[in-house]
Amino acid sequence: MPVSYVVALDVGGTSMKGGLVTFAGEVTVFPGRDTGREAGPDSVVAGIRTYVAELAAAGSATFGMAPSGVGLAVPGIVSEAVALYAANLGWRDVPVSSFVPNGIPAVLGHDVRTGGLAESVFGAGRGVADFLFLPLGTGIAGAVVVGGEPYGGANGWGGEIGHTAVWPDGEKCACGQRGCLETYASAGALARRYAARIATTPEQSVTLAEPNNAQARSQGAVTAKEVVERAATDTAAAEVLNEAIDALAISLASYTLLLDPSMIVIGGGLGEAGAVILDPLAERLADRLSFRKPPPLRQAQLGVQAGMLGAAILGWRAAGESSWRPDLRATPTRSP
Ligand SMILES: [Zn+2]
Repeated sequence: MPVSYVVALDVGGTSMKGGLVTFAGEVTVFPGRDTGREAGPDSVVAGIRTYVAELAAAGSATFGMAPSGVGLAVPGIVSEAVALYAANLGWRDVPVSSFVPNGIPAVLGHDVRTGGLAESVFGAGRGVADFLFLPLGTGIAGAVVVGGEPYGGANGWGGEIGHTAVWPDGEKCACGQRGCLETYASAGALARRYAARIATTPEQSVTLAEPNNAQARSQGAVTAKEVVERAATDTAAAEVLNEAIDALAISLASYTLLLDPSMIVIGGGLGEAGAVILDPLAERLADRLSFRKPPPLRQAQLGVQAGMLGAAILGWRAAGESSWRPDLRATPTRSP
């Protein structure tokens, strides 16, 4: 007997991952692949279309029918029907039909907001109407979940908390502004600021004078996760982490005062560090708020699956099942 399912795709700047999700909530995760963005936007769109077609073919073979819908989480400015603009993929005004073969109904979503939608339905925000989902990754963007739905604003720019200034005369951000939260508190910022700091300490500067020096290369490659681990014993790492947590506390105090969230869900690679970041952040957030209690901070629950699970929700919406929310804990995630 045929089983209905959707194709769900999470498209990042450099790679994408996809899966099949049945109505009962069985998730099959397929191997990811590169977006191939160096070949240009048309090639990226064609690559996504091919991937969707392959997943649909695999689904037809397994479940005995074509997919009921397709959901795609993509970066940039996006409506349900059009991928309007993505700086890192170079596309403009790509209709959703370009990503999907054979007229299967499909819906697009913004990558971070789609992750927030998944945390809202299946993860840390289950049953919570109003919260902020804040993944701390290479960059920082938030999903402002209001009334159970991520809020994109008038033009799709809503949630760009990473580019609100925490120190107005601070370091220059890649976006062109100064002192943005992302400049201090993203995983990318931690790695970059730590590398810069140890490069200017006297005992290290000699080795860094030679650009091909192996030690210099390895210092440049220290990841944000390693900076967090080193913070217990390494002054430079502790300073960089401390400034990141201060920056987050400033931003989250503003967010709390503006939107009064029930909770703040911290995700991304840095969110997975857990208590090392969340405990001091909760303390400093409480210190900054004088007349009200801070919202609790929670670690995101879905990890790298958030985007794909959110895309599955969009796929079921495309299929006309807008209240789809199975108990995923009852259904194991599989490989093909
Ligand atoms: Zn910025």
